[in-house]
Amino acid sequence: MAEPLLEIKDLRVEFDTRDGVATVIDGLDISLYPGEILGIVGESGCGKSMTALSIMRLVPVPPGRIAKGTIRLDGEDLLQVSEKRMRGVRGNAISMIFQEPMTSLNPVFSVGDQIAETILLHEGGSKRAAWQRAVEMLDAVGIPVPEVRAREYPHQMSGGMRQRVMIAMALACQPRVLIADEPTTALDVTVQAQIFDLLKDLQKKTGAVIVLITHDMGAIAEMAQRVVVMYAGRKVEDGPVDEILTNPKHPYTTGLIGCVPHLSADPSEERVPLTDIPGVVPPMTRLGQGCPFAPRCSEAMDKCRLEMPTQSVVGEDHRVSCWLIENDGP
Ligand code: SF4
Repeated sequence: MAEPLLEIKDLRVEFDTRDGVATVIDGLDISLYPGEILGIVGESGCGKSMTALSIMRLVPVPPGRIAKGTIRLDGEDLLQVSEKRMRGVRGNAISMIFQEPMTSLNPVFSVGDQIAETILLHEGGSKRAAWQRAVEMLDAVGIPVPEVRAREYPHQMSGGMRQRVMIAMALACQPRVLIADEPTTALDVTVQAQIFDLLKDLQKKTGAVIVLITHDMGAIAEMAQRVVVMYAGRKVEDGPVDEILTNPKHPYTTGLIGCVPHLSADPSEERVPLTDIPGVVPPMTRLGQGCPFAPRCSEAMDKCRLEMPTQSVVGEDHRVSCWLIENDGP
């Protein structure tokens, strides 16, 4: 396999809370390879967005801190560089698009101005050239009559159009890594499909690595080549998407897949009942010493409550942290 473009190793992120120190990410290892779309999946509070903020070095300090680990982009540890250097990396080498574009776009500037400003900030040049590039970017993300719409303000656009503007802004400086944090959650299903198609198309054209963060296994199946499943700040399973979807090893992964509706046009096909995962993600200040998923896991054994499972390799590029593997697994 090629050298990773971005490599997270042994990352630990902590927050001071009234109930003590919450370890929101613990011992996380993730590698991103050139030209791929990597999915990070898990419920809210599993540490997905905190992983993204750590890569961008935007964890709020205090109360948070990156307590341990390395995040290397092309070998350069982003956790060790100056804030000035990091400002050059954000929006340039690594860009991010967020769930709700209305809160990320400035309501008092036109969308064209906002994209042009990003270009001027990172690449300099004339205002006219930056504006022209902004219009080209709006065209590239499928916004009709881009030279007119570039003069519009965010509130004059639909949710889908605003998310396209965010994607245009994120790609304006040709980032090597694009982090998309629940990019379609606020959009209706047909617009979701359009945004996914757009991201896949742009990924092919630009070669950027995309990190898709989502709670939706359906979106992962649609978009990603590899997937990392996170639970309570830890990676519990990772591997190629096809392998994980057809042969999940961790009970949490199985639960996430069971929540995705199965649609079929064939009325004779047997219906697959939807399942749910009982309970909720535990507070990060109250994790015991064993497997954090144990209180919700129908397969939990005594050992699970006492010892944190270690990682096992279960296939090519497929790893899982669950004591069932040692017991000849599900
Ligand atoms: Fe369930 Fe035990 Fe595996 Fe944790 S280690 S997921 S509790 S079987």
